Amino acid sequence: MAEVRLDEVSKVYADGTRAVDGLSLEIADGELLVLVGPSGCGKTTALRMVAGLEDIDAGLVSIGGRVVNRVPARDRDIAMVFQSYALYPHLDVYDNIAFGLRLRKVPGAEIERRVAATGAALGLRDHLRRRPRALSGGQRQRVAMGRAIVREPQAFLMDEPLSNLDAKLRVQMRAEIARTTRRLGVTTIYVTHDQTEAMTLGDRVAVMRKGVLQQVAAPQELYDRPANVFVAGFIGSPAMNLVTGVFTTSAQDVELQISDQHLRVDPALLRNRPGVRAYLDRPVAVGIRPEDMQDASLAPADGAVLYGAVDLVEALGSELLVHLRVAVPGVVTDETRELARDAGLDPVEPVGTAGPLTELVARFSPRSRVRKGELVEVAVDTARLHVFDLDTGRSIP
Ligand code: ATP
Repeated sequence: MAEVRLDEVSKVYADGTRAVDGLSLEIADGELLVLVGPSGCGKTTALRMVAGLEDIDAGLVSIGGRVVNRVPARDRDIAMVFQSYALYPHLDVYDNIAFGLRLRKVPGAEIERRVAATGAALGLRDHLRRRPRALSGGQRQRVAMGRAIVREPQAFLMDEPLSNLDAKLRVQMRAEIARTTRRLGVTTIYVTHDQTEAMTLGDRVAVMRKGVLQQVAAPQELYDRPANVFVAGFIGSPAMNLVTGVFTTSAQDVELQISDQHLRVDPALLRNRPGVRAYLDRPVAVGIRPEDMQDASLAPADGAVLYGAVDLVEALGSELLVHLRVAVPGVVTDETRELARDAGLDPVEPVGTAGPLTELVARFSPRSRVRKGELVEVAVDTARLHVFDLDTGRSIP
């Protein structure tokens, strides 16, 4: 196995589309890095450049310390796993795994050794003489990975390998891939548009937008410290709520004013985010995760309360997703609004137009008795607020 590096890699298609723009990434030996972003953000193009299936217009790609820009795909010593297991139905597991080695005229004894080792590593030893249709979905996925592993490549590239599966199988396969890649310790780049897949699978996750890398970090870090409004909106489900507000301080207190609502802010916020001090008394974009909002009748609020009208309650059993209409302005500057919209957040109405009602989603305990149409008090965990520069959409650290 080997490390994979991209240095300032760019791709412009013939029609002028800048699919990948100055992408730099280092994937360590044995690491699983997930490339994630909405459709068209350039993740497949990036992967295809590593694979050698797409010319690189600028920058360097190296695998195991060797620059491969001019190395043809077949000589790059990497394996690609595409959408769910394209196995040969008429061949048994052994022959499916051995297929590529036979094509490459690897000697018979060597094939036997490698297929046996791969079968053992993937827990397929007892199934080597079965045809694919006699296997479970998870076993088939392992055979597909086995076909790639048996070549002993320097790295694995996976492009949405689960996208054809139904929801339940996806979850099983996701766990399967996580287990297998960890056990084998293979350097892997995994492309998906699904943020849940990205968060659960990646040692680190690289978030792309319009060909440009937005942030690369461990999943929890990405969730806790999104670099900008785009990452904040893209990672997390339901998405982070985003509104415009102003922080002020008096002698002891910090307050957040959102439209005509005033919330007392936990002083821990300024300790967590000292940069906010430079933004006092002027509008910023404020992000509130749904789980940081609770029915105030069930949680101590200490003055950190928002008032809203319940628009919809989705009871999921373990929690209630409460959609609230709140008379607060959403985020209105152009750049920040565009970042938010690209992340799939609702476009927000401009301040000053009739009734700038913003929809917020809160994750209430199932013990809450709120009903559609009611006015509720919502306790906000203000120590955990996210704060972004309103003009650039960048996180204020
Ligand atoms: P998806 O998840 O929908 O596959 P993606 O993030 O993988 O999207 P790419 O397939 O890499 O994105 O495409 C990035 C951009 O490049 C898109 O705007 C796409 O339309 C464009 N593109 C992709 N292939 C070509 C091509 N052969 N010629 C011109 N433009 C292309």
